[in-house]
Amino acid sequence: MTTATTASVTADASPLATAQGQLTTAVTHLGYDDGMHQMLATPRRETHVAVPLRRDSGETVLFHGFRVQHNVSRGPGKGGLRYHPAVDVDEVRALAMWMTWKCGIVDLPYGGAKGGIDIDPREYSQAELERVTRRYTSEIMPMIGPDTDVMAPDMGTDAQTMAWVMDTYSVNRGYTIPAVVTGKPLAVGGSLGRETATSAGIVHVTAAALKEAEVPLTEVTVAIQGFGKVGGHAASIFADRGARVVAVSDQYGGVRADDGLDVARLQQHVEATGSVQGFDGGDPVSNDELLALDVDVLVPAAVEGVLDESTAGTVRARWVVEGANGPTTAKGDRLLAANGVTVVPDVLANAGGVVVSYFEWVQANQTYWWSEQEIAEKLARRMSSAYADVSALARRDGISLREAALVIGVRRTAEAHEIRGLYP
Ligand code: NAD
Repeated sequence: MTTATTASVTADASPLATAQGQLTTAVTHLGYDDGMHQMLATPRRETHVAVPLRRDSGETVLFHGFRVQHNVSRGPGKGGLRYHPAVDVDEVRALAMWMTWKCGIVDLPYGGAKGGIDIDPREYSQAELERVTRRYTSEIMPMIGPDTDVMAPDMGTDAQTMAWVMDTYSVNRGYTIPAVVTGKPLAVGGSLGRETATSAGIVHVTAAALKEAEVPLTEVTVAIQGFGKVGGHAASIFADRGARVVAVSDQYGGVRADDGLDVARLQQHVEATGSVQGFDGGDPVSNDELLALDVDVLVPAAVEGVLDESTAGTVRARWVVEGANGPTTAKGDRLLAANGVTVVPDVLANAGGVVVSYFEWVQANQTYWWSEQEIAEKLARRMSSAYADVSALARRDGISLREAALVIGVRRTAEAHEIRGLYP
């Protein structure tokens, strides 16, 4: 077993350093001893695999793949699969840990896991991505399964990727096992509402935070960094619910319009060109400028560590709602707090995806599917109730929403450890 606590914890922007620091804060608040801290800090299982790919050209290239089960005390590991050139084991460890707390916060019967391959999916054909996905799945087969570890899409992967994982796993087992992944296409047992679930959850918690301040959603301006599965749908849902989306960006650049972007037309532009850049319904804005815009709500929904010691101090939004995992570093967090910015943390704000993943897994296990309305209502209830728990604890103990959320997630996980006892 690898001791994650000793891994690269020096850089402020390292996701693992951020995650470990957050855990230390929660453990200190809860008064747990060092033994429990180590249990909670250390992944239960990790697999590192070589993922060779025969390219369409005939050339062979090699990628590195990881699957980390951070904790499985409350149920199977649950977490996404990321394809990004910068993926490394420390990033996957951090993301797996956040999944454990997230599942605890929204009270799902899951632990936390995450996987990744250091591949840039934009550089490869669909056939190549299919081969990489099937090879990776075969390599980690002993570790995954509907009762042990359930994957979902993350950055650089999508419903099609999940269909390949499900098919590879099922073919090797000899029968169809839809519950081995979530976020798969409807045609093979996906759930209605899964595609938009993370973004719908972001809007639910934003509305809940605004309500506490007696600010209607229809009166706020919103800037969103990242226009992928999370940021793109969030922009549409915010606009549908009457908020004014004034800026969005992706890795190529951004676009702003102070009167509000026409999000539907922007989506068409992105479908046609692959980027928000060059949209004629607004003016260009850089990613750093977007973070510093004078808006009510800022939603970082791209990559980790964007709100760090150099950028967090420039934020003028009153609320930061974290769509991405780990967008704020520890130093960034302190700067935001000092400037009176309320941060709705990732482990709560983007939990809608795993909530509907859970609904999909329940439906697949029962082979009985629910209506879109049932799913939307159940999601709204769970997100509002999780927000209310976190907010009440934050107020009671005079702590931030992040600390309160982590305390709830960490406490539920630690309780499972204590009640189950230590074997042998
Ligand atoms: P995605 O690949 O669909 O989209 C990522 C977006 O971020 C793209 O628009 C990309 O251009 C942009 N981006 C990448 N690097 C950037 C940079 N340096 N600066 C600005 N923009 C950049 O990924 P996604 O699924 O939308 O995930 C985004 C974040 O949300 C990740 O942190 C992911 O872990 C988290 N998340 C995703 C889900 C989900 O259901 N997909 C659930 C919970 C959390």
